[in-house]
Formats: sequence, structure tokens, C-alpha cells
Amino acid sequence: MKDLSLLSGIEISESKEDLICYSYDSSYASGIMPELVAWVKNTDEISRVVKWATNRGLKIIPRGSGTGMAGGAIPISSRSIVISLERMREVHEINSKNFTTTVSAGVINGDLQKELQIYGLFYPPDPASLDYCSIGGNVSTNAGGPRAIKYGVTRNYVMEIEVVLSNGSIVSLGGKTVKRVVGYELKELFIGAEGTLGIISRITLKVLPEPEEVLTLLISFNELKNAGECIPRIMSLGIIPRTLEFLDSSSIELIEADNHIGLPSNIEAMLLVELDGEITSIKRQAEMIVDTARKLKADVQVATDYYARENLWKARRSISPCLLKMKDREKINVDIAVPIDNLALILSNLKEIAEREKIPIVSFGHAGDGNIHVNILIERNNEASKQKGFEIVKEIFSNTIALGGAISGEHGIGITKKPYLEMQISRKNIELMKAVKRVFDPKEVMNPGKIF
Ligand SMILES: Cc1cc2nc3c(=O)[nH]c(=O)nc-3n(C[C@H](O)[C@H](O)[C@H](O)COP(=O)(O)OP(=O)(O)OC[C@H]3O[C@@H](n4cnc5c(N)ncnc54)[C@H](O)[C@@H]3O)c2cc1C
Repeated sequence: MKDLSLLSGIEISESKEDLICYSYDSSYASGIMPELVAWVKNTDEISRVVKWATNRGLKIIPRGSGTGMAGGAIPISSRSIVISLERMREVHEINSKNFTTTVSAGVINGDLQKELQIYGLFYPPDPASLDYCSIGGNVSTNAGGPRAIKYGVTRNYVMEIEVVLSNGSIVSLGGKTVKRVVGYELKELFIGAEGTLGIISRITLKVLPEPEEVLTLLISFNELKNAGECIPRIMSLGIIPRTLEFLDSSSIELIEADNHIGLPSNIEAMLLVELDGEITSIKRQAEMIVDTARKLKADVQVATDYYARENLWKARRSISPCLLKMKDREKINVDIAVPIDNLALILSNLKEIAEREKIPIVSFGHAGDGNIHVNILIERNNEASKQKGFEIVKEIFSNTIALGGAISGEHGIGITKKPYLEMQISRKNIELMKAVKRVFDPKEVMNPGKIF
């Protein structure tokens, strides 16, 4: 007996159409239809739904915007309720004296960026999905983005969080000061926990003053290995660009076919390098980068105005959606990260695998921090091709770990990378994580079966 009257005032649905939609996210995994979806509007409603659901033995699946790439927000048992925070979009405070902002967890990253601009402020973490993904989802996956190379990832900006725990109680963790040493910093455990410890309802983030100027360089290479070589050379110039993105030839072709923005053709790779700061200083830095790239036979174009820059970023952000439009192929995507001095090695390794296995592999991503999105394009509805794809994933993970890298740079483990977790971390390490989960979620109701 569900007794939905106890949820009066809260928007819920049991309709099949909704339940189907909420059994997917942006990964290649599909989940199981939950019993119910609840669209909560505030912390109190989250707490009420959590208490109601746990009393009925339902598993709780926290959900932001569903742009997650690892299957973290999809139910894996029919005895589940999805708690969606997409109606919680309030920016409570922008404090330009303390350089902080406080938001409800469902606020969209890109909307917050636009609002901060009005105050001359800037929130650096900029996942390519920023027009859709929520800040709560960003915190729960510790999202990164192109600007991570200079400004770090979400973790570096989270100051305080309000969380609804698995028994429905509400706690506040962290604080609004940069310096703070008052016992264990429990908020850190929730960053990147993929909703397995509790539901984050409100977040205070650190923000920065907007940089004076931004300058964008588009660097094209006829040979992939020269692009791989250029990245550590740029980094050793003593310059930290705010982005250093890598695109291989297949990514460039996909973007061009869909957007027609006139990207260079017949090249093997491209870098999108962005500098920010004081204008004379970044112009000097740009000259050093152009000089370095030309020594590696690259062609360089500069986009100085806002619209030219936005056009390039629109193109860069369109790659993932373009990959989904392919008719006869589907992608298995992984987001590996390697130390940047091993980037050239992993890129040529990926090229070698694609040629050997005769399977297209599209690679692009945040090369400046060694984080590459690798998309293995398997044949649609072909089980043998799918199995081959998963064998390739294992080989790529194995090579990544051997090069000192991580099997996920920013998308998390969710369910899609769960089978590979022990390749990366020891059993003892996993047991410690499970012990932490038991402290916060002794009955295992919060997003069970995710990560481990
Ligand atoms: C086109 C595209 C480009 C992308 N580019 C990037 C990129 O550049 N960098 C990057 O890091 N990621 C990227 N992603 C992945 C994704 O956008 C991020 O992981 C994002 O942080 C997920 O946010 P979301 O609101 O969609 O979360 P969801 O997908 O809804 O959830 C993700 C995980 O967080 C949990 N969760 C969500 N909200 C809460 C909450 N309030 N409390 C507790 N747990 C919660 C869910 O249970 C789930 O485990 C991209 C995705 C797409 C589709």
C-alpha cells in the first residue's frame, strides 16, 4: 500500500511515460523503471519523500538533470523512487564581498554563470553540458570542464552543503570561510559520491572576479603525434592556459558535418587554447604558444571577439550530441585521465587500437589536464561488436593505469565503470569506502549498487 496522501503537495508521477524517461540518463546504460518519480521544490519536501520512501522499503535515486555519463542517476531496481531536483532552481545569494554564491541544488550551471556575469563574477567549473547540468549533479560527480587545467574542478569551489541524509534528517557541512579547521571536513565525502551518501539540497560555492580579457587560439596539426607533443611543450613554457582542448580528426569531421562552421579540413588533430588575464600579458603568452606550435608545423588562427570564441565553444560542446546522431553506430564512451607527460603515448596507443581492431575511436577532451573522452563506435544492435567494444575498454583502462592514470577523470563510476573499479583501486580501499557508506546510509537506501 503506497498511501500517496502522505506526499500531498509534492509533485509526483506514476505514469509509465514518466517512469520510462526517468530510467535513463546520458550514459549508454538503461535502467529499470522506478515505482515513482517525485519533483521536489525544497529541502523539506526532499526530507518528507526520503522518510516516506524508506518507511516503504523503496530505494532512493537522487537526480539532477540526468546528463550523467556513468548511469549514476538511473534506477537498477523496480522498488525505487527517483527524487528529481530539477524544480529547485533558486539562486539564494550572490555575495560579491565574500566571493560566494548560495544556490539550490537544481540550479543549472550555465544559468548561474550568466547571473554571476551581471556582478562581474565568474564560476570556473564549466562542463561541456553546462547548459543542462545541475550544480547538485556537478558536486555529486565532482564535475570538471575545459577550465579545470587552470582553475581546478568542482571540489575546489564547494564551501558549504546542506544534505538530506537517508533517515530524512538535514545537516549542514562545511562553512563560508576559506580557512576552516574544525574536525573532519565531512562535506568532502559528498563531493563525487554520486548520490550514494545523501541528497545535496543547497550549496555555497566560491566564485572569482571575471578575468580582464580572454584570447582563444585554434591550432591545427597535420600529424597527431605533433599535437600530442605540443601539449607538454606549451605547459613547459611556464604558462597555464585556461583551456587546452584536444580534438582528433574524427571529432572535427563530426562537428563540421553538423555545424558547418568552417573548421580546418584534412588535418589529424586540433587544439583549442584559451588564455585569460591582463591583455598585454596574455598577448605575450599567445606569441610564445604560436611560436611553439609553428615549430611543430602547426597552423594557428586567433579568435579575439566574443562571437568568434562562442562559435568555437559551441562546436566543441556539440561533439557528444553529434556522436548520438550516428545512424549505424553507437558509442561506448570512457573518460580516462593520464599525467600530461604521458598524453602523446596514450593518444598513439588509441590510434593503434582503432587500426588493429578496425573499429572507429573518436577522442577529444581536456588535454591540458590529461583528461581524454574516448568514444568507441560499435555497430548498432550488434552484440559481437558490443562485446569487442567492452574488451577495448578494458585494454584502454589497463594502458591508462599502467601510465599512472585514472579510469574516470570526471564522469564518475556509476554503474558503467563498476566492473573495472578493482583494476584501479585495492579491495581494502573499496572496503573503507563501503564502511563510510554504512555510517551515512546503514540501511543501504541511497542510490545502492552505484560505484561498488
Ligand atoms: C554533452 C555532455 C557533455 C558533458 N561534458 C562534461 C564535462 O565537460 N565535464 C564533466 O565533468 N561532465 C560532463 N558531462 C557529464 C555530466 O554533465 C556531469 O556528470 C554533470 O555533473 C551531471 O549533472 P546532472 O545534474 O545532469 O546530474 P545527474 O546525471 O542527474 O546525476 C549524476 C549523479 O549525481 C547524483 N546526483 C545528482 N544530483 C544530486 C544531488 N542533488 N544530491 C545527491 N546526488 C545527486 C545522481 O544520483 C547521479 O549519481 C557531460 C555530459 C553530456 C551529456
